[in-house]
Amino acid sequence: MKRWLRRLGGLRTSPLRIDDASWHRLLQRVTGARELPQEQQVRLRDFAGRFLADKAISAAADLELDDDRRLLLAVSCCLPVLHLGYDWLDGWHELIVYPGEFGVRRRDIDEDTGVLSEWDDELVGEAWDRGPLILSWADVVADLDEPTAGYHVVAHEIAHKLDALDGHMDGTPPLPDAARRRAWIAAFQHAYDAVRADVDAGREPVIDPYAAEAPDEFFAVTTEYHFTDASYLREVLPDVARELALFYGEAPA
Ligand SMILES: [Zn+2]
Repeated sequence: MKRWLRRLGGLRTSPLRIDDASWHRLLQRVTGARELPQEQQVRLRDFAGRFLADKAISAAADLELDDDRRLLLAVSCCLPVLHLGYDWLDGWHELIVYPGEFGVRRRDIDEDTGVLSEWDDELVGEAWDRGPLILSWADVVADLDEPTAGYHVVAHEIAHKLDALDGHMDGTPPLPDAARRRAWIAAFQHAYDAVRADVDAGREPVIDPYAAEAPDEFFAVTTEYHFTDASYLREVLPDVARELALFYGEAPA
């Protein structure tokens, strides 16, 4: 009965307890977590325990996921929302992890001609607006072991999840008030147009040209820069960098 009531109220099951030995192994492995101030580490450990309790982590293909790997995945997904709050990971319940890049079949119907196109994509991550988050284990590990400015698959996919929280994947996550929303849209629209203009003219844009695909990808790609090279982002897209720092909190140095 109690459990049933809790479910109805949308309250979660209690967080998983992470023992000290596992947590210390995790800190050895994940530099970004190890370098956090003590109280932030406590917060991260709490978030990771909640993540492990309320998200199913499924291994796809022949990937083996032991407890340490599950904890690493939970921590990686919680780091981007450490400042925002754990509730920002609401609205989805499953993380699917492939050993490496995974193939997906795409289909699209042209609204004018009714022509159906289908093609295959190789992906390192994918976020469905209300469905699972999908990641490539090899790429999660590569982002830890060989950090590269502008590349962070987990931050990218979590940005899509945050973007989808208001029901629209449009490059604007829920923001506290109309003024912040106006400032966000002005900064992002201007920067998106500039990056698109560079790509259209065959010039090298200041960030990964994938950002020019659509406003939601622009938000996800600039999020990758925020978490991997915030000082570069401040230099090339200062208004976007400021909005992201207000939203996610200041990025680690
Ligand atoms: Zn994306």
